[in-house]
Amino acid sequence: MSLPDDLTLLTAAESRVALDNREISSVELTNAYLSRIEKVEPHIHAYLHLMTDMALSQANSADQRIESGDVSDLTGIPIALKDILCTTDAPTTAASKILEGYMSPYDATVVARLREQGAVFLGKTNTDEFAMGSSTENSAFGPTINPWGENRVPGGSSGGSAASVAAREATISLGSDTGGSIRQPAGFCSVVGLKPTYGRVSRFGLLPFASSLDQIGPFARTVEDAAIMLRSISGRDKMDSTSAPIDVPSFTEKFGADLKGVKIGVAKEYSVEGMEPGVDAAVKAALKQLEDLGAELIEVSLPHTEYALATYYITAPAEASANLARYDGVRFGNRIEGDDLIDTYKRTRGQGFGPEVKRRIMLGTYALSSGYYDAYYVKAQKVRTLIKQDFDAAFEQVDAIVAPTSPTVAFELGSRTNDPYAMYLADVFTIPANMAGIPGVSVPAGFSDGMPVGLQLLGKAFDESTLLGIAHAYEQAAGFYKELAEV
Ligand code: GLN
Repeated sequence: MSLPDDLTLLTAAESRVALDNREISSVELTNAYLSRIEKVEPHIHAYLHLMTDMALSQANSADQRIESGDVSDLTGIPIALKDILCTTDAPTTAASKILEGYMSPYDATVVARLREQGAVFLGKTNTDEFAMGSSTENSAFGPTINPWGENRVPGGSSGGSAASVAAREATISLGSDTGGSIRQPAGFCSVVGLKPTYGRVSRFGLLPFASSLDQIGPFARTVEDAAIMLRSISGRDKMDSTSAPIDVPSFTEKFGADLKGVKIGVAKEYSVEGMEPGVDAAVKAALKQLEDLGAELIEVSLPHTEYALATYYITAPAEASANLARYDGVRFGNRIEGDDLIDTYKRTRGQGFGPEVKRRIMLGTYALSSGYYDAYYVKAQKVRTLIKQDFDAAFEQVDAIVAPTSPTVAFELGSRTNDPYAMYLADVFTIPANMAGIPGVSVPAGFSDGMPVGLQLLGKAFDESTLLGIAHAYEQAAGFYKELAEV
C-alpha cells in the first residue's frame, strides 16, 4: 500500500493493514492526529478534553502489542469519545457546568472494551449539554463548528464526535443517539453515523438522557470503519440488563458490489414541509443509484410518523427528568452551598444546568405529574407502540427503509437557538427509529449548495448487517465519502 504523506487520510481499516505490516507505528499515527488536532482544533472545537499524554502512552503499548502479535481490530487506532461516556483518565462532563471537572471512578463498558483492545484515546468530544439538542450549541463550553462551513453548526448532540471525524481529528469516534444525535450530525458533516438496535451496545457508563431510547454508536469516514467499531463495542454486558444476549456478527458479511434481490422501502410520509429542495434532489439521486445497483424500490407507509416528534418530546423529557434528579449537589454534581438543603438544591441545579436542560426537566416533570401522567406519558407510550407496529408491518415487505437524514443541511450558528421547535424539527426523520428501537445509519449522499446531505437507511432490529451491506454498496457506488472537508 502506498502511504499518504498525512497519515490522517487513512481509514481505520487501512491503518490496521499499515500497522500490521509495520509500515507505520501507532505512535506515528497518533502523532499525525495530534498535529492535525493542533492545526484545526482552534477553529473547530470538536474536543472538550484532549488526552495527549495518555494517547501517546497507549500508542506505545499498542506498538508493543502489535510487535508481540496480540492484535485486535482497533489496536493502535486513535479514536475520540463523546464526553458523555465515563472514563477514569479524563473528565466526563456531558458538556454541563454541573459536572465540570467530574472524574468517573469507572469506565463505561464501551470504553473498557476499547481499552482492552488497545485503542488509543485522543480525547473527549463536545456535545449539547446532556445530549439535549441538535446543534451542539447547548454545550456549556461553547459550540463546535462544522468543518464544511465557517458559520454552520455540526448538528448534534454528538456534534464534536461528527466534526472530529470529518476534520480528520480522529479515525473513528463514538457518539450517542436518543433521537438522532448520531445520524443527524453525521449527515451534516458528511461522515457515516450508525445508531445500533436498542440493546445491541451496553449503555453502562453512558450518562443517561432517556434510558429507553439511548444507544451508543460510531462515526466513521466509511461504512467499513463503522462496522469495525460496532463489532468492537457490541454484545451482552451484565452491567446493563437491557443489553441483548445476541451473537455479534462481523457486520461486514453482507458487503458486496450490488443490491440484486434487495427490497428497499420508500416511506411516503418521509417528506415534510420545509424540506430543502437540494436535500430532496440528493435523496432522489440516491434512490436512483440504489435502483441502478439492482435494488427494488417499494413504496411503504408509516402512518404514525406525524406523531413521532410529539411522542418523543413527552417520552424523552419524562425519562430525563427522572435521570437528572441525581445531580443535586449531594449525590452528584458540583454543589453550590445555600442557606439550607432546599436552597442548596436550588442553587446547584439553577446554576449548574443550562436553559435547554431546565426546559426538558420541566416538560418531563409536568408530563409525569399526578393528573397528567395518563394524558401525556401513558398516551405517548401507546403511540410509541403504534409507531413500532408501522415499522413491523413495513419490514414484512422490505429489507430496509430509505429516507433523508434531516430535512435541511447544516443551518447557521445561532439561527435556531431562540426557536426550540425549529431546532426539534431537525430530527423529524431520525426520531421514529429510536421510538421503535430499530437501527439506522446515515451515509454521505452529496451536497446542497456546498453543504453535505445525509441519506438515512433504517433496518430491522438486530439486522445491522443488512443495513450496512446496503450502505456499503451505495457508498462505494456514489463515492461521496472520498470528498473531505477542507479545514
Ligand atoms: N435532538 C434531539 C433532542 O434534543 C435528540 C438528541 C439525542 O439524540 N441525544 O432530544
